[in-house]
Parts: sequence; structure tokens; C-alpha cells
Amino acid sequence: MADCKVFWEEAIKLLQIDYREENRSEEFTLWVSVIEFIDSKGLVITVGVPSPFFKDQLNRRGDIKRIQDKIFELSGQNIEIEFVIRPRTEQKITVNKNENIVSSIREEKNSCIPDNNSMNNKESLSKKEILTNNHHPQLRADYTFDNFVLGDNNSFAYNAAFAVSKNPGHSYNPVLIYGGVGLGKTHLMQAIGNLTWSEKKTKVIYITAEAFTNEFIQSINEKTTTKFKNKYRCADVLLIDDIHFLQNKIETQEELFHTFNALYDSFKQMVFTCDRPVSELKNLSDRLRSRFERGLNVDLAPPKYETRRAILQKKIDKLDINIPDDVIDLIAQNVVSNVRDLEAALTKILAFSELVKKDITVEIAQQLLRDTFSSPKQSNITIDTIIKVVSDYYNLSMSDIKGKKRTKNVMLPRQISLYIARELTEYSTTELGAEFGGRDHTTVMHSCQKIEELLRSDSTLVFTINTLMRNVKDYKKPL
Ligand code: ADP
Ligand code: MG
Repeated sequence: MADCKVFWEEAIKLLQIDYREENRSEEFTLWVSVIEFIDSKGLVITVGVPSPFFKDQLNRRGDIKRIQDKIFELSGQNIEIEFVIRPRTEQKITVNKNENIVSSIREEKNSCIPDNNSMNNKESLSKKEILTNNHHPQLRADYTFDNFVLGDNNSFAYNAAFAVSKNPGHSYNPVLIYGGVGLGKTHLMQAIGNLTWSEKKTKVIYITAEAFTNEFIQSINEKTTTKFKNKYRCADVLLIDDIHFLQNKIETQEELFHTFNALYDSFKQMVFTCDRPVSELKNLSDRLRSRFERGLNVDLAPPKYETRRAILQKKIDKLDINIPDDVIDLIAQNVVSNVRDLEAALTKILAFSELVKKDITVEIAQQLLRDTFSSPKQSNITIDTIIKVVSDYYNLSMSDIKGKKRTKNVMLPRQISLYIARELTEYSTTELGAEFGGRDHTTVMHSCQKIEELLRSDSTLVFTINTLMRNVKDYKKPL
């Protein structure tokens, strides 16, 4: 390509705007702006990053992919990115109180150390782990049982997963793990895959329900459905992630139903994950639903403080970075939503600590994680967000929830929306009545009481409402 540097600079400039519009300027500064263009040859760009940890995170977070995509948009060329590690000697990094961000990152240019020669670093540590772990090539090496921290919230799911790994196809079949985002469903599922594969060399297939659907549609278009069927029907262990995606996908459901029967009859293990109990899935054929419910259904709940702390400690120990106890405590106390958020908070602290090469204090951590810690009541949850999240979950339109219809399938979601709005916002019952299609405040009160009553006896509803509340808090407006 003529001049990669020009495309690189333009791509970074445009990405900065994109990140800003996504409300992720802080991430841009901490991760993307740290990458330094060094030179390019043909379609390979060499960039410098401060440490192997950065390289790893940039790939994992998807920033590198975004840069590549942007350059592709600009130049029509697929470029490769190679890393060199440039440790820093002098740092000028400040936490800017107004912008709540690492505001200036200046570096002292150092001699480059080719990345693959840096043996004394964390990446080589993780490479060693990969070799000893003997993980399945399609699965993540770090998604193992050893790396999964046990707590009250997950011990049942963990034990079930471990049991099927030791005796696939013959203990519980299928196993279905359900729970909200970021609670470890994919981790546990892949741990099953890794363990059965490394111990028994079984044929393990892992796929998301979305990819399964796409592959099925493609096989219809290309008239290769027989090949598709054979592929999945000869698995020893079939892992399908996020089956809530199959709602409304009638033909894919049909196909999976037959695959299920074939595997079940020949004692092959199946594991599924879902973001809610199967009984809550809409537009799913009854016969497939009953198959999902046939074996063992286990849930993952958000971890309590002690487990959150243990998870953080485990991740820190592996990295061999020093983070003071009171900072770990601060994160464990404040990030309560799920493990993914917990990890994201820790990663931010680790990245900062790598850049400044000194210990992080509680004050700096508080500053860095200010956004993460902000409480839901201050975080502008709107009624529309609540209605959107609930209506999506129940496959209704927003106007169904606001409207006058009084059928059962609309009434419950409407009452749930009102209940959540009461819990998560400061609106009065009168204001809520107005927002919900001009209802009277007594109707609002009645709805909330009704849900409170149900919550006392219906554990599935407890789960559903917890999930919905989490989704509301995590909701990001589509751009
Ligand atoms: P889900 O599939 O439920 O959305 P993931 O399996 O992707 O969640 O988990 C999110 C992140 O949290 C992953 O990096 C995973 O390794 C980590 N994680 C979740 N639960 C635990 C746990 N109990 N111990 C250690 N790490 C965990
Ligand atoms: Mg997942």
C-alpha cells in the first residue's frame, strides 16, 4: 500500500470520534492512544505498545480489529498489525479531575524489543500456561475449571459442569446453564470442552446459537445441509452458547431438535447456555423446550463480596502485578453487577499501573473507576429504557406496554416495568402513571404490590426481574 502511515493516522483520528460518540473516550485514551505507529512494509504495519499486557488486552478488547476495519474502510486493504514492546522509562501521566481520565500519556522513546523475544513477561507466562493446559484449539485456554472461582452463587453449576466433563453423555444430559450477562456461562461451558477434550480426546464442538443459525442458513443456500447435519451429529460433546438467540428461528429450532435427538440417543453430551430460564423463552417450539429442560438446568447468580474478592485476587496473582489490598477491596465492594464488569475494572487499574510503573492508591483507583461506581439512581435511567428492555425481553412492542390491552401476556410485563421503574428511578407513582399511557397512580401502586406479592413465591420471577434490572442498568442506546 502506498503510504500506510497516512491511513493509520486517519483511521485513529476517525476512531477517536467513534469512541467519543460511544461515550468511550476514556477507553480511547487509555488503550488506543497508547499505540505508536513505527513503520510499515507492504500490508504489515508495525506498532509499539508499552507491554505484552497491552498487546494482549488490545487484541482481546477488539481495538486492533477496529483499527484494521477502519483502515480497510479507508483504503480497501486488509492490513496486518505486528507489535513490538517498548517499555517506558519516563511517564508523564496524570489523572485529570475534570475529565476523570488519564489525560496525558507521554512516552520516552526506547529501543524496541521484538515482542516474540520477550521471555520475561506475562505473555510468555500465558504461553506456558497454554502449553500445559492442553486446551481445545477452538476454545479459550484460560476458560478452565482451575481458573473458575467457586462461590455460593455458582457452586451448583460448577459441580454439574465438572461432573459431565468426567462422564460425558452419562450423568446429566443435556446440561443447561442459565444466568445474566458476564456471570461465567461461556467460561464454564468451555471448561467442559477443554477438560473432556484434554482427558478423553473427544470430538468437541463449540458454537454460539447465532453462528449455528447462520451456518444452517448458509447450508440451505448452498444446498449442503447434509454436510451440516453430519458435522453436528457426529460430535461427542456439543456445546451451544446463548440459545436465547433461537427465539423466533423456527427452522433452526427444527434442525436442532433433530440433532438433539440423534445425539441424545447415542449418549453424546450436550450443554447449552441461556440468558434466562428456558420457561421464559418466547417463540420456541414446545418439543425443543422440553428437550432443553430434560436434563439438568442450573443457574448462575451474581457473586457476593467474598467471591468477587477471590476472583480479583486470583486474576492478580496470575499476573504477578502488585495491587494494594485496599484497592482490591474497593473494586470488590463497588462492582457488584457481574464478573465481566469486575474484570473490566481491574483491567483498567492494571493498565494504568503498567503505564505509571508504580502502585495505585485508593484515591487514583476511585478516580479511574468513578464512572463504573456511579450508582444507578444517578445514572439517568429513563422510563423508555425500562420499557424497551422489558418489551424486548418479552418480545412485545413498546406501545403494547404503554397501551390499554389487558391480555395476560401484556399485563405482566407492564406490571414488571412499573415495578422496575419504582425501584430504579425517582419518579412518583403519579408521574409513572402519566409515563405509562396516562394511568392513575393507584394502578401503579397496585401493579407494584402485585409484583411484590408474586416475588415472595416465584423464584423464576425473582431471576427474571434481577436480569431485567441488570439489563436496564447496563443498557446502552444503539448508535
Ligand atoms: P457469560 O457467558 O455468562 O456472559 P463469561 O463466561 O463470558 O460470561 O464470563 C465473563 C468473564 O468473567 C470471563 O472473563 C470469565 O472468565 C470471568 N468469570 C466469570 N465467572 C468467573 C468465576 N467464577 N471465576 C473466575 N472468572 C470468572
Ligand atoms: Mg457468554
